[in-house]
Amino acid sequence: MPQAELLPEVTKFIESPKMVIGGKSVDAVSRDMFDVIDPATGRVLCEVPRGGVADIDVAVGAARQAHEERRWAGLRPGKRTEVLYKLGELVKRNISELAQLESIDSGKPVSIASGEMWAVGEVFRYYSGWPTKVFGETTPTDDNMFVYSLREPIGVCGGIIPWNFPMIMAAWKVAPALAFGNTIVLKPAEQTPLTAIRLGELCLEAGVPEGVVNVVTGFGQEAGQALAQHPDVDKIAFTGSTEVGRKVLHASEGNLKRVTLELGGKSPNIVFSDANMKRATRGSMHGVFLNSGQVCTAGTRILVEKSVHDDFVSALLDATASMKLGNPLEEETQMGPVISQEQMERVTGYIEIGRSEGAEVAVGGERASELGDGYFVQPTVFTGVRNDMRIAQEEIFGPVAAVIEVADVDEAIAVANDTIYGLAAAVWTSDVSKAHKVARGIKAGTVWVNTAGNVDPSVSFGGYKQSGFGRELGRHSLETYTQTKSVWVNLR
Ligand code: NAP
Ligand code: MG
Repeated sequence: MPQAELLPEVTKFIESPKMVIGGKSVDAVSRDMFDVIDPATGRVLCEVPRGGVADIDVAVGAARQAHEERRWAGLRPGKRTEVLYKLGELVKRNISELAQLESIDSGKPVSIASGEMWAVGEVFRYYSGWPTKVFGETTPTDDNMFVYSLREPIGVCGGIIPWNFPMIMAAWKVAPALAFGNTIVLKPAEQTPLTAIRLGELCLEAGVPEGVVNVVTGFGQEAGQALAQHPDVDKIAFTGSTEVGRKVLHASEGNLKRVTLELGGKSPNIVFSDANMKRATRGSMHGVFLNSGQVCTAGTRILVEKSVHDDFVSALLDATASMKLGNPLEEETQMGPVISQEQMERVTGYIEIGRSEGAEVAVGGERASELGDGYFVQPTVFTGVRNDMRIAQEEIFGPVAAVIEVADVDEAIAVANDTIYGLAAAVWTSDVSKAHKVARGIKAGTVWVNTAGNVDPSVSFGGYKQSGFGRELGRHSLETYTQTKSVWVNLR
């Protein structure tokens, strides 16, 4: 694959990216490093510090000190608004650099990464409005008492995030933590540490005081585990697999820290016979193949009403076959590689499982080895899938769709809910009543009607069932990043 030009800022940054702790760029206490791999080539891009227990300790100490000294929470709310807004502006001003960095680190097409960086700027802009809108209340009790509440930050937060949307996930943790006056230690995924480090630097540039945002790069079982069980961390916001979410919950037991979990999904995408087929086809395709299928809300189970099944499938296969797979740094690329060798083997392993379960590979089904040593997997559609097959029940986290035929609305809702997950769902129909009936019937934290994949900082996001608990974004994050104190004053 041809080597696309890197921007000078990107080349310079990857010379020696370091952790951001207490306002300084630092190496690990142990001086150990680990490799960052470019998924499009399989080659080493650079090294980053391998933070572990000792580094988490230092970072939590820095965040604690910043919190106790009220370096951030003690600022005038209007000042915090100004800093958060500036941070959003800085992200937007550096979109090309950040998008390219994200692209080489994660393999996602640069055009898509640019959109994500814009969205990250929007997340900070949205949250910049919050510091001035956090209120307590007064409560009538006894005439001789004055009772009021204070809404206060939780304290030191830990953010543990996955590799699929590295910078967006970092923003989803850092922005609300800051908006509501907390300090934070962020542990990005080992596969994608680069934009998180850049975000830590941009926070300082925007005027976030030292120690308020700390970024520790490292492995989940070392740095992640240490953060989740640290006795001086007050809250953990985790996004990742259901399996690791369980570990984080266990690790939180020691000091009963607050935990919010955004976990996996196996989201249904339901196409009814009265849908606009052109929109449903495009929407379903993007819903499952965006980011090489490495999306927690991906509509991986495509439920299609019997009467339109064959026509819909043939349109979906045509659209899928026309997707442009290739070098993420080229503008026209629609789909890049998956994140790692391990993930590629997992995805192709699931494709084999699907075949052996009796489902039919209608398109794709192989590694795209013509693209070199990168971790490319063809966009793959299985037809003839039953909902009890493993490929319909287990999260694959790759470009693999399972088409399941359903008879009517009731069967569609029943099949949609026959899963341990409940993150999201999409429904395609031109019947308003049907759309609302299905939206109400589905057990998931988000339902899209005649659209798929939308998120916005003002709309809360999270899971039902084993897709997690707690809500991020929107006004619900006020609840998850603050706590209230009732104050009783005797007037006698
Ligand atoms: P993961 O293995 O669960 O990792 C998520 C984060 O947790 C990473 O930073 C990871 O570090 C860390 N971690 C691993 N073991 C840990 C431990 N014992 N204690 C504390 N932290 C630990 O998930 P992934 O492989 O990065 O991403 C794929 C999965 O994430 C999929 O199943 C997907 O559904 C889920 N996901 C969910 C959402 C959502 O919003 N619901 C969003 C994105 C992804 P390492 O990188 O070193 O392993
Ligand atoms: Mg992992």
